[in-house]
Amino acid sequence: ALQAGIVGLPNVGKSTLFNAVSNSAKAQASNYRFCTIDPNVGLVDVPDARLNKLAELVQPNRVVPTQIEIVDIAGLVRGASKGEGLGNKFLGNIREVDAIIHVIRCFEDENVLREEGAINPVSDKEIIDTELQLKDLESVEKKLSRAEKMAKTDPKAKVELDILQRCKTHLEQGKSIRSLGLDKDEQAAIADLFLLTSKPVLYVANVDEASMHTGNKYSEMLKEAVKNEDAQVIIMNNNVEAQISELENKEDQQMFMEEYGMKEPALDRLIHSAYKLLTLQTYFTAGVQEVRAWTIHEGWKAPQAASVIHTDFEKGFIKAEVISYDDFVKFGSEAAAREAGRLRIEGKEYIVKDGDVMHFRFNV
Ligand code: GDP
Repeated sequence: ALQAGIVGLPNVGKSTLFNAVSNSAKAQASNYRFCTIDPNVGLVDVPDARLNKLAELVQPNRVVPTQIEIVDIAGLVRGASKGEGLGNKFLGNIREVDAIIHVIRCFEDENVLREEGAINPVSDKEIIDTELQLKDLESVEKKLSRAEKMAKTDPKAKVELDILQRCKTHLEQGKSIRSLGLDKDEQAAIADLFLLTSKPVLYVANVDEASMHTGNKYSEMLKEAVKNEDAQVIIMNNNVEAQISELENKEDQQMFMEEYGMKEPALDRLIHSAYKLLTLQTYFTAGVQEVRAWTIHEGWKAPQAASVIHTDFEKGFIKAEVISYDDFVKFGSEAAAREAGRLRIEGKEYIVKDGDVMHFRFNV
């Protein structure tokens, strides 16, 4: 599963958020698949109303959502890029994740220690950004000196050199690589650096209880500060989320949320956004045994999509029967959609669309 890593300064509510995620993962996953979870890694179901709707129509024995991994990356502090507070280890952990969830403290609470003076979401964000940028600068400079030598004889290295120099200038201006506007080829040319600031990010404004529906002045400051980043800011209260996730049955959760005027856990929104951030798409299989959501990347063709179910499916792929989600719901079953002529037979070149209900035919 793809990974999203939770980062932020100490005492902003990261572990609280992680516990909420991993509690709800445990409670939900136990019905489905067994999953081993590290103390710092939680495997979490991705909520999807379409999956529930399909299950309602098909009435299968099992319903299996797709999952992503959430990793708690604690210990990032000012000076981490210079090895402060085991900084290098934690920065290494960030290198391995596919996207970043940056938690920012937007609540006041004199009982919760804070080393950076008055609450300031903008400077908090900048402290973390700076550490990641400095680390990236180190990676870029290392590669740059090698590329300089090679560029004298190798024209391909010359292209790379140019990209690296742009990265360096950008980082030195205190900006993150994700805002440099590299195209796909340029990104691929430096992919081996796994630059920390090139990863997609979303922000969690961890606000006090009173502001969880409206946000507060701190979350507004944060929104203003990131408005050019094209990044989402999710306003939530991590304490409340952790409390919801600790309740074992749905009725208790429902009652608790009603008291707080919530329709759903904010965690659902967060996970959904993280999934989108990873530019993932979902297709479904809908049999009487199992209705299930599967994760693929945008642009994947049918055989590759089939390989998510089983690697043999890709090799032996013959064709796929496809019904769009909307048609499936409109006609109510595979048989009815087929009768209405809304079931398509697609071949190897078919690019799977988000929400497709797929049935693969293959040779074993
Ligand atoms: P971390 O260091 O970022 O992992 O922070 P923790 O999740 O351990 O939280 C630090 C402290 O802040 C704990 O005592 C939490 O209960 C508290 N905390 C977390 N979220 C909130 C919040 O939304 N409001 C308030 N008042 N306290 C919170």
